[in-house]
Amino acid sequence: MKMNPIQDQLRRPIRDLRISVTDRCNFRCSYCMPKELFGDDYAFLPSSELLTFDEMLRLTGLFVSLGVSKIRLTGGEPLMRRGLPELVEGIHAIDGVEDMGLTTNGVFLKQHAEALYGAGLRRLNVSLDALDPELFGRMNGRGIRPDVILRNIDHAIDNGFEVKVNMVVQRGVNESEIVPMADYFRQKNITLRFIEFMDVGNDNGWSYAKVVTKAEILERLQSSFELEAQDYNYFGEVAKRYRYKGSSTEVGFITSVSESFCSSCTRARLSSDGKFYTCLFASGGFDLKKLIRSGADDQSLLAAIRSVWEQRMDRYSDERSEQTLRSRTKIGMSYIGG
Ligand code: SAM
Ligand code: SF4
Ligand code: SF4
Repeated sequence: MKMNPIQDQLRRPIRDLRISVTDRCNFRCSYCMPKELFGDDYAFLPSSELLTFDEMLRLTGLFVSLGVSKIRLTGGEPLMRRGLPELVEGIHAIDGVEDMGLTTNGVFLKQHAEALYGAGLRRLNVSLDALDPELFGRMNGRGIRPDVILRNIDHAIDNGFEVKVNMVVQRGVNESEIVPMADYFRQKNITLRFIEFMDVGNDNGWSYAKVVTKAEILERLQSSFELEAQDYNYFGEVAKRYRYKGSSTEVGFITSVSESFCSSCTRARLSSDGKFYTCLFASGGFDLKKLIRSGADDQSLLAAIRSVWEQRMDRYSDERSEQTLRSRTKIGMSYIGG
């Protein structure tokens, strides 16, 4: 039976669970899995270390009983996990799951859209950082062209999906794409969300100087479009939303650096090898897989999850400083799942 959500030390309820279903990816975005670190000989997790779908479903059910109602499937590249629709179907069937979404780079959407929709998935966030083919090919590290992703977005929408697009903006890399991307997706009536470049992992070349803030992006947009700020939809909503005047199309901003939102952060994360993290910038997680595989019953698992959440005090983005940047060893974004 569902109860009131458990709360952490800062009285933030647990509401969202982001599940990383694989640590592998077909891209090598420099801000997430730089080629130099994730080379041909990189040791990804062996499949025996990944949570099985049964284990994920069991844990999801327990998280839901403690207050989670929103699930996001991510990775690595989640569409590289074989049989994903089976997991989607299982999550869809859990009583208390009110919303489920998937974040993907979109390359394999064409093959999987229909089965995922059939399994109950309705919402997709597709990442795309540029429309310029040469630039996008360089940014994804694999020379994949943007028209592949654009076609797959159209295909997903034709199959009934609600799609949002995420663009990470880096100074000196893809700022020139802000207005063309906005224009393209405005005309398509698709929400585009600009994500401030974050210092995830330990070596993605991050510095404050490379962050293009929401204020700056907005200023650039306003030179081409008239925008109106929108109210929050719900507590803990991450995106700051704007609407193009005279239309129903929105743009959003994820301001993790310039206007951090730790005080309303209700997100728990489960890595593909079953570790429970309470912050994107955590240095360590609680090993739920170990507990499950040692034969723990539901009561013990629930007690562990509750205890970790109730001790949570994370507010990394609120506290970000030169000192925290230097001193903290963080887990990688592709591993924890963004
Ligand atoms: N592979 C999928 C994708 O790219 O959509 C899902 C996983 S990816 C880690 C999830 C999201 O994190 C993507 O939208 C990606 O752009 C974003 N991301 C990764 N590294 C980032 C960084 N350093 N700063 C901001 N966003 C980042
Ligand atoms: Fe892969 Fe997504 Fe990371 Fe890019 S952002 S390397 S697509 S996991
Ligand atoms: Fe949540 Fe950590 Fe991000 Fe703050 S820094 S919003 S606590 S994930």
